[in-house]
Amino acid sequence: MKNKKELRTWLDDLQLDHPLVIAGPCSAETEEQVLKTAHELKDTDVNYYRAGIWKPRTRPGMFEGVGALGLKWLQKVKEETGLKTATEVANRTHVELALEHDIDLLWIGARSTVSPFIVQEIADALKGTDKVILVKNPVNPDLALWLGAVERLASSNIKKLGVIHRGFSTYEKTKYRNNPEWQLAIELQSRFPDLPIINDPSHITGNRGMILDVSQTALDLNFDGLMIETHCDPDNAWSDASQQVTPQSLEQIMKDLKIRKETSKEAEYNNLINTLRTQIDVIDHHLIEVLGKRMKVSDGIGTLKKANNVAVLQSKRWNEILGKMILEGEENNLSEEFVLRMFKAIHQESINHQEKIFRQKNGS
Ligand code: PEP
Ligand code: MN
Repeated sequence: MKNKKELRTWLDDLQLDHPLVIAGPCSAETEEQVLKTAHELKDTDVNYYRAGIWKPRTRPGMFEGVGALGLKWLQKVKEETGLKTATEVANRTHVELALEHDIDLLWIGARSTVSPFIVQEIADALKGTDKVILVKNPVNPDLALWLGAVERLASSNIKKLGVIHRGFSTYEKTKYRNNPEWQLAIELQSRFPDLPIINDPSHITGNRGMILDVSQTALDLNFDGLMIETHCDPDNAWSDASQQVTPQSLEQIMKDLKIRKETSKEAEYNNLINTLRTQIDVIDHHLIEVLGKRMKVSDGIGTLKKANNVAVLQSKRWNEILGKMILEGEENNLSEEFVLRMFKAIHQESINHQEKIFRQKNGS
């Protein structure tokens, strides 16, 4: 990718004393709704006013956006409030229309980032633009696909680039609408520390009650900004009603967030240590989840052994596991002693689980 520092210039030029804020409704619905929401956001921390004009809906037959008409409403927003504008583009025609209407920030949605053909078409249509272009992560947790999209845009001589982390689809149900997979965003930041990264807690949570919490984690992980869906009447929104907040709630969220500024050596140290600690918290949370999953599988084995009258302890199998894990541990810079102690503890917990199953009366 291009000269690293250049990637940040557009963001640094804004000289903000708070994270970048992109807010506005999921969808532009009516001229009145777009303007009312914008006026309520006018004197807040919001830097860009977002509204979806073309809506990528998973299934047909739902509200698919008002189309190009809404771009005129966004122009009016800029004239009346001075807010810069932002919308999603998903093909060449969208790009041409958005540029004609002088939209300041265009983003590529999660369902488009998955398709290199679409991304290339958009990159070609945007060639050399001085607008800000942000790439949402693809719906699936694939860092290469995400970066590939950014590279296609960079090759089209687009300088004002950034990414939006909006969480990932999972087959398993979680408390999130789209699982944040923070480790992936952390890896992206460590590989491209100068690529601005914005968090979208609205599409991660799908639930307005969780937005503050996810936003705080994002800021603790050194994200550069937030994109938060905001609507003058969220409960009656035509799309994503449960995750949208009112302009007043957005202001409260911004007040409640602990925003760290790098102003002194000490502040810089605190900032760094907090980022690293949040990374550890994310990983610890995963460790517990993964161990819980392992025990569930182990419970399944316990039930099977019981049904077939097989002993809980299978020493041969256990020694094989240990040998393999010691080797993998070495590759990951973990000492043999640590791997042995950790797996003995895991094994003991598995045995306890399985013995409990053996002690249960049949049919209970
Ligand atoms: C949106 O921002 O309204 C949207 C459709 O997001 P995503 O591409 O993340 O689903
Ligand atoms: Mn939405």
